[in-house]
Amino acid sequence: DREDFDEEVDSVCPFCGVGCQVSIKVKDDKVKYVQGINGPANEGRLCVKGRFGFDYIHHGHRLTKPLIRREDAPDKGLNVDPENPWTHFREATWEEALDVAARGLADLRSYYGGKTIAGFGSAKCTNEEAYLFQKFIRQGFKHNNVDHCTRLCHASSVAALMENVGSGAVTASFNEIENADIAIIIGANPTENHPVAATFFKQFAKRGGKLVIMDPRGQGGLKRHAWQNLQFRPGTDVALLNAIMNVIVEEKLYDRQYIEGFTEGFFEFRDHIRAFPPERMAELCGIEAETIREVAREFARSRAGMIFWGMGVSQHIHGTDNSRCLISLALLCGHVGRPGTGLHPLRGQNNVQGASDAGLIPQVMPDYQPVTDSEVRDLFRHIWRGTEIDAEPGLTVVEIMDRVYRGEIRGMYVLGENPAMSDPDVEHARRALAKLSHLVVQDIFLTETAMYADVILPASALPEKTGTVTNTNRQVQMVRRAVPTPGEAREDWRIIVDLARRIGLDWDYDHPRHVFDEMKMSMFSLHHITWSRLERESSVTYPCKGPDIPGEDVVFGDGFPRRAGRAKFTPARVTPPAEVPDEAYPMILTTGRQLEHWHTGSMTRRASVLDAVEPEANCSLHPSTLRKLGVDAGGRVRLTTRRGSLDVMARADRNVAPDMVFLPFAYVEAAANILTNPALDPFGKIPEFKYSAVRVEAA
Ligand code: SF4
Repeated sequence: DREDFDEEVDSVCPFCGVGCQVSIKVKDDKVKYVQGINGPANEGRLCVKGRFGFDYIHHGHRLTKPLIRREDAPDKGLNVDPENPWTHFREATWEEALDVAARGLADLRSYYGGKTIAGFGSAKCTNEEAYLFQKFIRQGFKHNNVDHCTRLCHASSVAALMENVGSGAVTASFNEIENADIAIIIGANPTENHPVAATFFKQFAKRGGKLVIMDPRGQGGLKRHAWQNLQFRPGTDVALLNAIMNVIVEEKLYDRQYIEGFTEGFFEFRDHIRAFPPERMAELCGIEAETIREVAREFARSRAGMIFWGMGVSQHIHGTDNSRCLISLALLCGHVGRPGTGLHPLRGQNNVQGASDAGLIPQVMPDYQPVTDSEVRDLFRHIWRGTEIDAEPGLTVVEIMDRVYRGEIRGMYVLGENPAMSDPDVEHARRALAKLSHLVVQDIFLTETAMYADVILPASALPEKTGTVTNTNRQVQMVRRAVPTPGEAREDWRIIVDLARRIGLDWDYDHPRHVFDEMKMSMFSLHHITWSRLERESSVTYPCKGPDIPGEDVVFGDGFPRRAGRAKFTPARVTPPAEVPDEAYPMILTTGRQLEHWHTGSMTRRASVLDAVEPEANCSLHPSTLRKLGVDAGGRVRLTTRRGSLDVMARADRNVAPDMVFLPFAYVEAAANILTNPALDPFGKIPEFKYSAVRVEAA
């Protein structure tokens, strides 16, 4: 009976960066079902995860009491049964667990110095929790070794946007596509990964908008709606995009007035781009020169164009260069700052935008204010009551794990992240975790990372929290607590505050609202956005020009937050992937998400409907590749790279290129990151998840 509920609470979906608003129907302190409501990003729509993915919060594996590693526990490893962890862990009171957790971190600080501690926060947390977490590390240990999963997601996009546009966020909401004539979607598969955004993209195509899909992996979803489908060779993004811009430059299709008024570096860029004619680049990227010309002409001549991209662009050693090309393309055509134009990296997790804004990044304080800037450090010294901020940028996720492996970092506090699944070359990450002398994990399940912990603190799922999150559209949204935390589990913000007090910090927050108020003291992006306004309106877009004025969906119409208000052209060169196929590893491995599962699977594989729809680890190969291997669809294959090997069920998928294999990363029994390459983009420090040389055999 859908009318039989005690309470309905409006909140936000906990999964992807679209940030759909939901009404949670509660019966007997349990989520009974969820409906989409009229949020600005979703207009009532939800995908299968939003509709059927909430029962993970009531799963029997939820952590309900603090756990401490037993003194006689076996060696640290993935050998813990989540249903029977008692040979490894014992239950503890909150007092004891917090004392042990804090004392371990404080002792390392005293003996070896603050820099031997690092923190991984999470984009699953609220803005307030992300803010508190980075403050905990920066204030408590006097350095900036704090990061989160944006490093594995859009760090290279943010690096390019900060460099060339002056802001790391999108310049226009995805809903602006309704005002566009043409839209490029590159390195993204929105029907699987941003499904509600994809519904707006399909409507755009239905109205006659020209959708250009550029995707080496190949996709069924939006391809059917596309005007052009460019399945270019993996890793050749710069070749393809430079060729498109070569046509625009050589045929003088660029927007001269816009370039003169709003940009810098055009003449050097123009000279650079002449070295990339479509005929030469076609040999590299595998797209015919005439197709490249047709797309270039249409994009340049269109009244309004948008560019969307995903991790197919960002997760390369040349991810920053890929994004630089997309920014230059938009600038060349004047497709920024007007309705129906814009640059939009589609954000992955539901609060990866907000956690980044809140300063959960090693190089910058909240609102991307560099730690290297003495005025920024002065500002935070004032707000944080005399705290000296370290002027040296901190280490990123993969760098931290390397230092752990080398014994230079001895203690970690991990909140809602799962590096034992999410790091590239995950066997290396797991060996590193096993070496830590003190690991505190705060999570809702006994994740693969928690199996290595010394103390596990049972935390809260999003429907159990109060706070704010920020979606891919820059919409700050109110999260309302719908159900209580199970057992003795606590809200994350409260746990961070309790630990902070125990390591000697003078924190006196009583409610997330107080944290939000402090954030506003240093974050200009939150100007005119107050807690009470969010309680009233549920969602406010930043930037916002007045307390009663809606925020701006499209920004930078009158200049950019850079020197003289000008965006910058940065030339990019073609760089090969870090590891190319050879005789021993002749195919290309790429990894990603599936519609039903979320990141490392800790939540969605415990959601009964989602697990029933997609219960088994799988990979996708072209039918002709399967035939060559002598494997039937549904049979098993062995994937081997220089880092490891795993067996997995193979599916036939005509969309996947014959020399590629696509492997989702949500399955612990076939953890994709056993195989992936940890080589990093030099600017964004993001690993090359999207390209590894692999051998595929019948298992
Ligand atoms: Fe949730 Fe994203 Fe699906 Fe919306 S599109 S319901 S935010 S997973």
